Amino acid sequence: MPITSLDILLRNLTLIDGTGSAPQVQAVIAIRDGNILYAGPSSGWSQAREGGITLDLGGQFVLPGLIDTHVHLAGSGEADSQFEADDGSMVLKMLRNAQKNLAAGITTVRDLGGWNELEFTVREWIRGGGFAGPRMCLAGRFISITEAGAEYYKGMYRVADGVDEVRKAVREQVMHGADLIKIGVTGAVLVEHGEPGATHFNEEEIRALVEEARKFGRSVAAHAHGADGIRKALRAGVRTIEHGTFLYQDPAAIEFMRENGIFLVPTLKVGWDIILSDNAQIPLWIMEKNRSTQDEAARSLKLAYDAGVPVAMGSDAGTPLNFHGENGLEIYWMGQAGMSPVDAIAAATGGAARALGWEGWLGSLEAGKAADLIVVDANPLQDLRVLADKAHLQFVMKAGQVAACHAAHHLPPEAFAKHVLLIK
Ligand SMILES: [Zn+2]
Repeated sequence: MPITSLDILLRNLTLIDGTGSAPQVQAVIAIRDGNILYAGPSSGWSQAREGGITLDLGGQFVLPGLIDTHVHLAGSGEADSQFEADDGSMVLKMLRNAQKNLAAGITTVRDLGGWNELEFTVREWIRGGGFAGPRMCLAGRFISITEAGAEYYKGMYRVADGVDEVRKAVREQVMHGADLIKIGVTGAVLVEHGEPGATHFNEEEIRALVEEARKFGRSVAAHAHGADGIRKALRAGVRTIEHGTFLYQDPAAIEFMRENGIFLVPTLKVGWDIILSDNAQIPLWIMEKNRSTQDEAARSLKLAYDAGVPVAMGSDAGTPLNFHGENGLEIYWMGQAGMSPVDAIAAATGGAARALGWEGWLGSLEAGKAADLIVVDANPLQDLRVLADKAHLQFVMKAGQVAACHAAHHLPPEAFAKHVLLIK
């Protein structure tokens, strides 16, 4: 919904700007037309304003809206990871999942495997103002070789065997409006007979896919668990390695990622949600496969992070018991795996925006960036779980508009009437 030009001044806040800098107390943020005019110490803000709204946040913490670089809007956390729904209900399911993200402070999602192209419809309606929802960076279908997963996730996969088919599959995603291309370089954990360590595409197919994506200015996200597949994806020129479970086995690949600024998206939450659950409906094969790989995934993140590889937050929300709106827990799990709190937050804000290539206008609280932000009443640097708990989340702003509010006393309704589009 288009925002009016009224100014908003947020004052008396603690600023965590998403760049990895230390928090600033007594900061202010000035917003006009959905963008940030100024963010920083109150001493640096002196511009006279006529009209507009001033909100005293009483020292609470303000962060950029969170960016989840790996979700599946088609999934709602079904125990058996079966996302199927007929087309009519699937589009509503995706819209609802998108809204759950926004309500929880995830103002941007990157979907890495949609369903029958319905995610493009959802994005169009959100962009047009018909519904509230997060910003959406879309890959369209997951491009895969012929394998069991393509049967299991009908609607999400686009099977392509051989260089010509791979090129055609990329062109189809671009035609539908994809911002990037997703390739399944290796097998998957969440496919019953899938071998996560096995390399699926041949190197010439991966190269052809990346080359075709580049022709259209698209980057490539590579689903890759095994070290051989990771190496081939890196050599071909992908932008992000999704999961990277066995990355620890190849120090040279880690070094290549650091040198070339290739992002790791570790997706730890998906495994923890399954392992820590006592839900008897989780199929045994899903439980066992996650138990056997979780330590390796955490180890790979730790090694990559310590080596200086850029990391972006991706929860894989939509997978079993991995519910949309709880994505912020991924930041906590990244901290548990060894990232410093400030770096884990940067991975879900400024770093994530870089992984998307959207850092010029999104991801940090700096002048000129979009006014996407969240306000929390506790210090997330002391406990990252604050970022996944609506009891701490006061309100969520997207493009200067309050999109969700969990603490009504902060928002005098008459003053904010033109800025509020509430969802829960
Ligand atoms: Zn995924």
